[in-house]
Amino acid sequence: MGHKTFERGIHPAYYKELTAAKRVECAALPKTVTIPLQQHAGAPCEPLVKKGDLVHEGQKIGDVKAFVSAPVHASISGKVKDIELAQHPGGIRVLSVIIEGDGAIKDWEAGAGKPDLSSFTSEGIREAIREAGIVGMGGAAFPTSVKLAPPKGKTIEAVILNGCECEPYLTADHRIMAEEPEKVVWGLKALMKAVGAPKGFVGIEENKPEAIKAIKESLNGVPEIRIIVLEAKYPQGAEKMLIYAALGRKVPSGKLPLDVGVIVNNVGTAAAVYEALACKKPLIERIVTISGNGVKEPRNLKVRIGTSFEEVLSQCGGITADGGEIEVLNGGPMMGIAQSTLNVPVVKGTSGITVISSGSIKSAPYEPCIKCARCVEACPMALMPYKLGDYGRAHRLPEFKDWQGVSCIECGCCSYVCPSKRPLLQWIRIGKLKVRQEAAKSVTK
Ligand code: SF4
Ligand code: SF4
Repeated sequence: MGHKTFERGIHPAYYKELTAAKRVECAALPKTVTIPLQQHAGAPCEPLVKKGDLVHEGQKIGDVKAFVSAPVHASISGKVKDIELAQHPGGIRVLSVIIEGDGAIKDWEAGAGKPDLSSFTSEGIREAIREAGIVGMGGAAFPTSVKLAPPKGKTIEAVILNGCECEPYLTADHRIMAEEPEKVVWGLKALMKAVGAPKGFVGIEENKPEAIKAIKESLNGVPEIRIIVLEAKYPQGAEKMLIYAALGRKVPSGKLPLDVGVIVNNVGTAAAVYEALACKKPLIERIVTISGNGVKEPRNLKVRIGTSFEEVLSQCGGITADGGEIEVLNGGPMMGIAQSTLNVPVVKGTSGITVISSGSIKSAPYEPCIKCARCVEACPMALMPYKLGDYGRAHRLPEFKDWQGVSCIECGCCSYVCPSKRPLLQWIRIGKLKVRQEAAKSVTK
């Protein structure tokens, strides 16, 4: 019998072999970091420090009272050199704290014994997660403490850990499950306790046997948590697809996982929850996969938040110069965002830096639509991407909304399969942006 999965989707070339067996190594301590005050979905933080202040590793340097937000912390010890607008890998400029390091390193795990979950209340877990600035580490960067506070009347029956990592090239989640399964499992138990969920699941694609084995051994027969082995298919790690594949529940359009009694967190997020509760360590570093056919030595590195892409890439031998076109992405090739400069920092949501040296699917010239319907067959949300692309780029919002353009999860399957190389996702994003702008205008009127 085949493994569980969802309807439609695609099977791109994964290229995981470049880094799947490479253990995580610590990147060199950066001399300078640029820490954006917005690295999460929600309200940006306000600076809590000023130019010239001395800061220590893990010190909170930005926060805001808004419910949907997450504080940011100094990832190195040193002096605040400046607070200024700086380029963010999400493609915008964001107020950022620049810190010049003094070379000091704190050992967060020293003295941290095996933590006792019974000593934490649900409220205490949520508060510690917020204070540590933890956000979804699969790339979405939604504040975890907000996910753990469902509205009154909503019951969470299950927490699913997302260990799918279906994006080509990326293996950061794979490595964290293989190398630190105890942290992942302990973090899952803490997340379950925070929302009172009686059941937990870890969804892992079949192509990660080392991770499946490590998590299984770490669970050691805990009856309330189960591993669900899923077919390796893109976008298996999208929340709606994962919930359907794992539990057979469909999240209706416009609804959230909590509306079907579920919350989903990334395996890296669970490990960060462990570190926050057991070691009082805020989210100041993360595992990043640096890969692609344009990187000399693909690696998995634990990188301080705020380290520049340029510095990270230099620790991987730099970019392969074959004279062709180069595309550097924050994330993987399907959903990643192309960068115009390497002078951007690793942020909490940077799961990978992918360098594609030629034949990029994103920059190829496109041809007219031949109505082949391949995009329709691939769309996991059962949408009509060829229509949505046209409506989005032409700003035809009534038609875009009628054809459910806002339900697009931006997985990029349609663009990937299109024989005419039409940048459907790019156009659909334009449509979604215009719909958001229209909604914002009607609120302010
Ligand atoms: S329309 Fe959206 S959800 Fe459907 S394949 Fe394209 S990007 Fe994915
Ligand atoms: S896959 Fe491309 S060519 Fe085929 S219907 Fe969709 S947009 Fe048109």
